[in-house]
Amino acid sequence: MSLKNKKLFLLDMDGTVYEGGRLFKGVNEFLGYIESSGGQYIFITNNSSRSVKDYVKKLSDMGVRVTEKNFFTSVQATALYLKEHFDGKRIFCMGTSSMVEELRNSGVDAVTSTSGKIDCVLAGYDTELTYQKLRDICYLLHENRDIPYIATNPDRGCPTEYGLVPDCFAICEAVNYAVGRRPLYIGKPDRFMIDCAVNMSPFKREQALVIGDRLYTDIAAGVNAGVDTVCVLSGESTREDIEKSEIKPAYVFEDIRELLSKIRE
Ligand SMILES: [Mg+2]
Repeated sequence: MSLKNKKLFLLDMDGTVYEGGRLFKGVNEFLGYIESSGGQYIFITNNSSRSVKDYVKKLSDMGVRVTEKNFFTSVQATALYLKEHFDGKRIFCMGTSSMVEELRNSGVDAVTSTSGKIDCVLAGYDTELTYQKLRDICYLLHENRDIPYIATNPDRGCPTEYGLVPDCFAICEAVNYAVGRRPLYIGKPDRFMIDCAVNMSPFKREQALVIGDRLYTDIAAGVNAGVDTVCVLSGESTREDIEKSEIKPAYVFEDIRELLSKIRE
């Protein structure tokens, strides 16, 4: 299906619509085009340290018109996964207080204490991590070798103004060195988030388009879900990376502005 017929736009944020606090040129025009053509845009993020409210504020501050409906985070995806597979069960969470609060608000029995019966262990990108939390998760994973163990997102590092800091995967690898167990990861590149976003929308899979700057998360998630993909060169990937990679986007553009001009052609 051609770009002109796309209706559901699933956008990555960092490196795709902004860098640091700077919104890329053409983003607001692009979102305006989507609205005026009867489409829908959703920002899909693997970052599990921030809540949807934080993102609404961040993008609003940059001058983008958004509400909570325009976001889908790995925490929201994890809540849906937990309701599907562990409904009514007690979930031990190693994550930020905003992650725990968001899970509780969506009906998950999220606990941060190891006492009592625990049915599943969850790790997130915990920017409030302490050694005690690492001890607690190791205790649970040693105590019950078969306990289901999941994590919000498989990102190795999270970009900051001075470079990468340990994200969820790096934290889980520290745990793995101690206990010899790795979690099942929910976020991109798994297809789960893309599937949820398509299913929650009024549109068909063929009408969806995944737009992102990372091949092994954004583009891979789209490919895994059978959705067309656009790789923008405004973030991490270069044309050379795309040539070398086995993960191929359907389209490559310099940035959102070029994507918009191609759709309008
Ligand atoms: Mg990105």
